[in-house]
Amino acid sequence: MIPDKDFIKDDKVPGPTREEIRCLVLCKAGPREDEVVVDVGCGTGGFTLEFAKRVHRVYAIDKNPQAIRVTRENLIRHGLEENVELINDDAEEALKKLEDIDIIVIGGSGGRLSKIIEVGAKKLRSRGRIIVTSILLETRLEAVQTFKKLGFKPGIIEVNIARGHLIERGTMMLANNPISIIWAGLD
Ligand code: SAH
Repeated sequence: MIPDKDFIKDDKVPGPTREEIRCLVLCKAGPREDEVVVDVGCGTGGFTLEFAKRVHRVYAIDKNPQAIRVTRENLIRHGLEENVELINDDAEEALKKLEDIDIIVIGGSGGRLSKIIEVGAKKLRSRGRIIVTSILLETRLEAVQTFKKLGFKPGIIEVNIARGHLIERGTMMLANNPISIIWAGLD
């Protein structure tokens, strides 16, 4: 896993998603080398870089040009730019132009989550899967309901992580904000 501190950051771009969360998302996604991954809302490139290390093709989509720029910088910094295509567009528009996707990771949706899942689900190969990370209560619910509506059986975990920080008197555990990971797949 790439440590959070090894990412170039931009004040106007969220991310990277914390290392521990990236780890769990990878676990749930179970990427194989020959698979195609789409990172929806690539932000700083947290998921894009992790998948670029593990699969042969990644498409990273973000509507914010600054996110595309900082993701590109991070890919170059880690020597991972070769198998990644960056797409500066709205998620739904970009997904409509893609085919034969194995894994869709959604880390940002701007209030369009159900539409993005609907469009994305049509583009999945057999055994394809969609993984959503959600910091808002509303998107957790939206993800679960949309997956159900489309006939999937979604799984969800709520992740609460505290990291130890060394202080003079010992190790202080500092909590990160809770985040949910919701996933569903074609059988
Ligand atoms: N997982 C990322 C952080 C994601 S931040 C990381 O690890 O670095 C969420 C991103 O989603 C933002 O950059 C935002 O611009 C993008 N986003 C939100 N709604 C979008 C949409 N409808 N289409 C494309 N990008 C979107």
